[in-house]
Amino acid sequence: MPDVAIIGAGLAGLSAAVTLANKGLKVHLFESSQKAGGRASAFPFNLTSPLNNSQKEYQLDNGQHIMMGCYHETLSLLKEISALDKIIVQDKMEVKVVGPDQKSYILKSGFLPYPLNLFQALMGFDFLTFGQKISALKFVYGLKSLDVETLRDITVKDWLEKSGQTGPLFTGLWEILCVGTLNTSPDKASASIFAKILKIVFLGGKENSKIVVPGVNLSSLFVEPSIKFIRSKGGDIKFSTPVNLIKSSESSSFELFSRDQSLGRFSDVILAVPHHALKKITGIEQHLPAIANTELDYSSITTFHLFLKKIQSWIIFWL
Ligand SMILES: Cc1cc2nc3c(=O)[nH]c(=O)nc-3n(C[C@H](O)[C@H](O)[C@H](O)COP(=O)(O)OP(=O)(O)OC[C@H]3O[C@@H](n4cnc5c(N)ncnc54)[C@H](O)[C@@H]3O)c2cc1C
Repeated sequence: MPDVAIIGAGLAGLSAAVTLANKGLKVHLFESSQKAGGRASAFPFNLTSPLNNSQKEYQLDNGQHIMMGCYHETLSLLKEISALDKIIVQDKMEVKVVGPDQKSYILKSGFLPYPLNLFQALMGFDFLTFGQKISALKFVYGLKSLDVETLRDITVKDWLEKSGQTGPLFTGLWEILCVGTLNTSPDKASASIFAKILKIVFLGGKENSKIVVPGVNLSSLFVEPSIKFIRSKGGDIKFSTPVNLIKSSESSSFELFSRDQSLGRFSDVILAVPHHALKKITGIEQHLPAIANTELDYSSITTFHLFLKKIQSWIIFWL
């Protein structure tokens, strides 16, 4: 049976390990930090009550994570690790938008069967004028016959401008979807990737457009059930073990090292680390020169956690 090494125990590494362990392969996960989950995990936070100085430990997510019904692979991972009951799925697609006028507008699927429910959603989205709604509908309809490869070299902004999706259509609809799904502004995001997403969300069936949020913290949702599953299948996971060297041998196996210590030989290696971390592993340039020599830009996400003193504000309000 092949022994597979997986470098990085974020969502990608855990997901690869669950899939392979389920197929009967022996998996060995190596994670540089003290815990798994990477960018999708929770951390303990002690909060002292200003009322009586008592302490309470919270598990805070490193950031709000939103999924959609079209995350088919993520949802099948959750099914595999028996965690589907830990998510909250909207009955119907419903997105609230606050306009520059501070009014709130809703993009909400209607009662009609798919795809007419999406027609209802756009028609009921009063941030747009009637003419703009018709323009958005024509644009969505045009996605059916669109070859996304033709958009490979242009940005979302260029594509939307060429398609007449400007003004409130741009700011109140497409820009929000672009930043929300790609975490990138329309003047930088790839039009072909965005078009692919729009096709899946708008033309892929009513389940695809539903918003899905975690019902528990991210560690309880993904991380702990994945680790339990991997271990139950005989896989192992080593924490505080950064892989910093990969050597290949004549027998076409790979030997991994962490701080000059050999971690063993493996028939296959999966690299489940971000691009900037990959470049720090010696030996990568020999196996994947194209990746090692590429520079990728990334944009950070900042998360603010606000603790609201609900009862206190209520008392102050009434005083
Ligand atoms: C605040 C925030 C909000 C987000 N919101 C959303 C959202 O709403 N919807 C959505 O779909 N996505 C969202 N994302 C993105 C999502 O979290 C990531 O795409 C996903 O978690 C990446 O998983 P990964 O396994 O590819 O990488 P990572 O999570 O980065 O995991 C890589 C792991 O590899 C480890 N590692 C690195 N180098 C080594 C090494 N040499 N040896 C061993 N281990 C190593 C790291 O410690 C890490 O644990 C958000 C991300 C953030 C930060």
